[in-house]
Amino acid sequence: MPCRLCRHPLGISDAVHIGPFPKAAQYYPEPEEFVGDHGVMLEIAECPCCGMTQLLNEPVSYYKQVITAASLSPAVREQRLAHFKQLRDSFRESPRALEIGCASGENLPLLRSVGYIAHGIEFAPPRSAPTLLPEGVTNRYLLDIGPEEHGTYDLLISFNYLEHQPDARAFLQKCHALLADSGKLLLTVPNLDFLLSSQSAHEFVADHLLYFTAETLETALRITGFTLTDRQIINNQYDIQIIAEKRTSGAIATSKTALDALVIRFNETLRNFTEQGKKVAVWGAGHRTLALLSLSEYHLITCIIDSAKFKHYKFAPISHLKILPPETLLDPACGIDVILVMVPGIYPKEVIAKIQSLPVSYHAEQFPPEM
Ligand SMILES: [Zn+2]
Repeated sequence: MPCRLCRHPLGISDAVHIGPFPKAAQYYPEPEEFVGDHGVMLEIAECPCCGMTQLLNEPVSYYKQVITAASLSPAVREQRLAHFKQLRDSFRESPRALEIGCASGENLPLLRSVGYIAHGIEFAPPRSAPTLLPEGVTNRYLLDIGPEEHGTYDLLISFNYLEHQPDARAFLQKCHALLADSGKLLLTVPNLDFLLSSQSAHEFVADHLLYFTAETLETALRITGFTLTDRQIINNQYDIQIIAEKRTSGAIATSKTALDALVIRFNETLRNFTEQGKKVAVWGAGHRTLALLSLSEYHLITCIIDSAKFKHYKFAPISHLKILPPETLLDPACGIDVILVMVPGIYPKEVIAKIQSLPVSYHAEQFPPEM
């Protein structure tokens, strides 16, 4: 089967087998079932690719559902309220929060008390009456939410639910899709490091398919488009709590904006000279310059000068400007007035000095001025 996080193929031979263990945490056999109740062998594998520890076993039948006997303790309540409040300050007015696996929706009033519009999803919520769901709770599974809700939540919260899910990647990708660009994810999962360091292998349970360490949780978030902004080990080391944001992939977009600005500046420079009746040549036929020329108003350029012999008398792509040798400039009738020097690194100054030493006088300047 593929790794539940990175999809690397995992085989049963990669697994450590322990058991027999109870076949599910919520299984209490009736006397007539005793004969067939032999438990399960847990097949625990650590993905050699992403490091995720996971059960290769099938999920228990009720994995979409949160089953908890405990209601919120006052300490946990205070802790969560403080978090919700702290996060609240980073959002717009009336932020929208969604709890994934919200059971009977106990966290929703806490969220509302600090200004969120709070909703929860629970696959099979406990109901006080056959048709009555707790306020704000809908009867859904995360992966069944449609694209119409994508990008609409400021905060997603999920407490000790992810570890039950068969597909960590799909779960986190859906969280990513549901969040607004500036949205945040607050998540807790049990801490595998503590399970291992406390020699508690009996903590492995058929219900938990995913066993995160602080490191693999960060990996999981990174490969699903998140950046970790806060991580704490909580509940006497039993759990890991993280806050993550959608990673901004703005670097390329920013670079494109800068290129657009450079093209505008280059065109202005060309127009400035040609409007004065001057003929402009460009010095440099390197790939950067040729790319910039191809985006510019190259009809305002007379020719390209370059010292590389193998480029001489060839044509630049797209602009189809002719590439001429520097000796062209020795002819006072070459029809060039201005030379824009567009070579990288330390060369512009050298080229300008070379042009200025020619017997024919030209106006030479570097473009862009600080390359
Ligand atoms: Zn993996």
